[in-house]
Amino acid sequence: MFNELLHLFFPRLCPSCNSSLFQNERVICFRCKHQLPRTGYHLQPGNPLERVFWGRVPFRSAAACFIFRKEGGVQKLLHELKYRNAPDIGREIGRIYARELMETPCFQEADLIIPVPLHPEKLRIRGYNQSGVFGEGLQEILPARLSEDTLIRDINTGTQTRRSRFARWENVESIFTVPDPERIRDKRILLIDDVITTGATLESCAVKLITAGVKEISVACIAAPL
Ligand SMILES: [Zn+2]
Repeated sequence: MFNELLHLFFPRLCPSCNSSLFQNERVICFRCKHQLPRTGYHLQPGNPLERVFWGRVPFRSAAACFIFRKEGGVQKLLHELKYRNAPDIGREIGRIYARELMETPCFQEADLIIPVPLHPEKLRIRGYNQSGVFGEGLQEILPARLSEDTLIRDINTGTQTRRSRFARWENVESIFTVPDPERIRDKRILLIDDVITTGATLESCAVKLITAGVKEISVACIAAPL
């Protein structure tokens, strides 16, 4: 009763379309859940996202939940997730996507879910890693366990905005470390991120994981502009 009254005065809104959520809707409205554009990549070997990494790193599979378009509902979701203190959005997308990923063996068989680590300074300001909360949602459905301290970001690297493209790549290459390689030796990894654009960050994460001796890596992200 109290909750119903509360929602009457402070309606919960869908972060994608801004309509009021019904009591039985969690975080994102039913309509958006069904209408936001999907990639279907987890069912499509050789999909455009996998091709981004061909000749760079050998991923078993790569998939994205949504198609990212500027000004679209997916961009709005991601913006709210990253800048409006809304970690629940990431968790809910994780749960939604995990139910679909369960259809595909490589995602079912993963041992560990590893998010791309956020810069410690950004983590301090935001309070959460948007890829980490996506992983929390995935972990609720998938058999794999989420690990946020297997792959870490070196605390001493600065911001990338003023560097040249090459210097930026060099920088990305050196910022990730695996403090305890034994922990992931021969493990199947599900590497996760929010939006994939050039793939440079995921590539350098993957190089560190491969060097540490993992068995294989698959990739799942919230959205890709492909
Ligand atoms: Zn909506």
